[in-house]
Amino acid sequence: MPTVEKYQLVYSEKESKPGACPVCGGELDYGTLEILDTCVKYPWDCKSCEATGYEYANLVFDGQRVETVSLPPAKKRVYKDADGNLYFVRGGIGATFKGFRRWANPGKGQRRERGLHKLSYTPDKDQAQRDLDAYAVQHGLTEVEEQGI
Ligand SMILES: [Zn+2]
Repeated sequence: MPTVEKYQLVYSEKESKPGACPVCGGELDYGTLEILDTCVKYPWDCKSCEATGYEYANLVFDGQRVETVSLPPAKKRVYKDADGNLYFVRGGIGATFKGFRRWANPGKGQRRERGLHKLSYTPDKDQAQRDLDAYAVQHGLTEVEEQGI
């Protein structure tokens, strides 16, 4: 049985169903929904018995999604591979940065340093460091203490 509150009939979710008039079972004509803190509220008119009322639906937490975030500055890190080649962030053309490799023993005519093909130039030096950090993890590089790079 519905309970009577201040001359309103209140039907629980077990005593009623969405889209149907709780009094006669008729079809409901909905107005504009209102969003409250923990639920939404739809005003309705019954097309059959002319009762009017509100249908409530609870809002259920469904997780978070971060759209933008400010990350702390990236720590400058230099890496080394098994052959002794060094990996570090360097400025490229214009105010852009990315990870570079410095060959320990460059071949004849080979440039000593070269940008890593898998990484992209970015104007954000921290992002370039984070890209290099991820590259280092993927390629099993070890962090080294290098001054003056
Ligand atoms: Zn009705």
